[in-house]
Amino acid sequence: MQSNSLTGRHALVTGAARGIGAEIARTLAAEGAVLTLLGRDREALQRVADSLAGSGHGVAAADVANPEAVQAAFAEARAARGPVAVLVNNAGAAESAPFLKTSFELWQRMLSVNLTGSFLCAQAALPDMLDAGWGRIVNIASTAGQKGYAYVAAYTAAKHGVIGVTRSLALEVARKGITVNAVCPGYTDTDILRNSVANVVGKTGRSEADALAEFSSVNPQKRIVQPAEVADAVRWLCGAGAASVTGQSISVSGGEVT
Ligand code: NAP
Repeated sequence: MQSNSLTGRHALVTGAARGIGAEIARTLAAEGAVLTLLGRDREALQRVADSLAGSGHGVAAADVANPEAVQAAFAEARAARGPVAVLVNNAGAAESAPFLKTSFELWQRMLSVNLTGSFLCAQAALPDMLDAGWGRIVNIASTAGQKGYAYVAAYTAAKHGVIGVTRSLALEVARKGITVNAVCPGYTDTDILRNSVANVVGKTGRSEADALAEFSSVNPQKRIVQPAEVADAVRWLCGAGAASVTGQSISVSGGEVT
């Protein structure tokens, strides 16, 4: 294995059953990495694993917000495919509500899956990276980690938190051969966006095309980001050329955040 290559390295991607996570898994597998796909739905994860380039990929089931389940899933992944070299914290969810209707439970759910989940998985992966003297952690945050949006205070708070953890951990491991970065997509063509569009249609009676156009309009390129564009930023951050890039939040949003 070349020290600068992903070939043969064990990469664990959370929330890899669909959307951006599945695309990241496909991209890293095409680079020669051996993947563990982690999420709640083992069968859906296995279908993606079976479709990846290369061999030796597998799955591990856990809710990323459950500390014991995360530890068990990482132990399973490590036993099957060796120490984790690359962690992509992608699992996430985006529920919306006006601030005064944001229940304590919604607040907790958003912090748990988007922020605590990334923390738990990074804690589970880091010892392997420290032992190896090499590692890559990429947190899929959001433009909601870089700016505010109305009606998603809990999600926005969680994603700002992800960027904070990214900055602190990057400094803590800067001399250990490990980089820690965040990728911040704007509205991207996945179930999260489709659910948001359906929500707007349901609440306002507007057409689906109108609702989608409103989401596109915040992107200066006037379009929706494709999952492959997010995955390519992750690929680059995991590669040799990005070794001195750490603690950064890279916006993949057509210039929505500058
Ligand atoms: P998606 O299609 O809904 O996929 C989310 C993935 O996360 C699914 O595989 C889901 O798996 C998994 N997941 C959710 N909760 C989980 C939990 N508690 N434990 C383990 N896995 C969990 O959404 P996506 O758009 O690809 O989102 C991926 C990431 O990109 C998220 O962090 C999201 O915040 C971020 N992002 C998305 C957009 C966008 O517009 N799409 C924009 C900015 C940032 P199961 O539900 O099957 O378990």
